[in-house]
Amino acid sequence: MKSKIEILKSQALAALKAAKSDAEVRDLEVKYLGRNGLFNDIMKSLKDLSDEEKRTVGKLANETKTELEAAVQKKYAELEMYAFDVIADKEWMDVTVPGKKPDVGHRHLISKFIDDLEVVFGRMGFAVAEGPDIETEHYNFDQLNMPADHPSRDMQDTFWVKNLKRMVLRTHTSPVQIRHMESHKPPVRVISLGKTFRKDSDATHSPMFHQIEGLMVDTDISIANLKAVLTHLLQQVFEDPSIKTRFRTSYFPFVEPGMEVDCTCPICHGEGKLADNVPCKLCKQCGWLEIGGAGMVHPKVLENVGYDSKKYTGFAFGFGVDRMVMIRHRVNHLRLLFENDLRFIDQF
Ligand SMILES: [Zn+2]
Repeated sequence: MKSKIEILKSQALAALKAAKSDAEVRDLEVKYLGRNGLFNDIMKSLKDLSDEEKRTVGKLANETKTELEAAVQKKYAELEMYAFDVIADKEWMDVTVPGKKPDVGHRHLISKFIDDLEVVFGRMGFAVAEGPDIETEHYNFDQLNMPADHPSRDMQDTFWVKNLKRMVLRTHTSPVQIRHMESHKPPVRVISLGKTFRKDSDATHSPMFHQIEGLMVDTDISIANLKAVLTHLLQQVFEDPSIKTRFRTSYFPFVEPGMEVDCTCPICHGEGKLADNVPCKLCKQCGWLEIGGAGMVHPKVLENVGYDSKKYTGFAFGFGVDRMVMIRHRVNHLRLLFENDLRFIDQF
């Protein structure tokens, strides 16, 4: 009987040692130590032995059973540790290695510039007005003192919308000002920014371009106010407090008098040349850059929206946003701004 117990024990230990999974260990546990297991068979057969043998063999059987139970628990623990080791090997990582930053995009330089414009004008008390990209002829032209037979309409190569009677892709953001004045009484201080459309396409013109227009109407508004606002604006967006502005007589049907606005070149500071007498390419050595148009709002335009032109005066201006972005970032071709080439955009 004793040798039978020894044999069972060594078989059980060998089988446990070879077991590779919890399931195998559990099977062995049932086979040797379970209610109907091999050890219980031995215990049951003890009753046929003499009292003396019962004591010694029973003791050995009990000790062996306890020993095997301990071996089973030890095997479970070993398997668990092994599983951890496998996972640790597979999912090993060095927590001291610096992390990889995910690629994050940024706003397009035109959008960024428009934000900056809104901030600068916001500080001067201007609100932002918005309007539709597709406009009626009435708002895009008529209300701006450009009736259908007016030659000034030829200044803007217009996209007319097919099948939509007298609708255009807005050629400027000025109709937004009209809409705003129609719904607001003076004093008015607004800017309108956004996409505008004309049939132009070359190195400095794109059929779609961005404009910013500003409008200020109140009693006693003069060209001096216009000059102060524009000079401050250009100094801020070109980050150059030495910038000066000048006006040259021009013609736009919705203002009187009308003028072109120039500012001193932010690269050569109006000198026309850089250090070591290198000619300034941006301003073509003249020291001035053409920025846009401006003027005092034509009395007819004020009357069109129901304002008393004897009581109120105002100024308006319109600049090409894209050209200002080109100047600010020293970009020499307009198309670069619209091609969405990441090699270009990521530089900013
Ligand atoms: Zn220059």
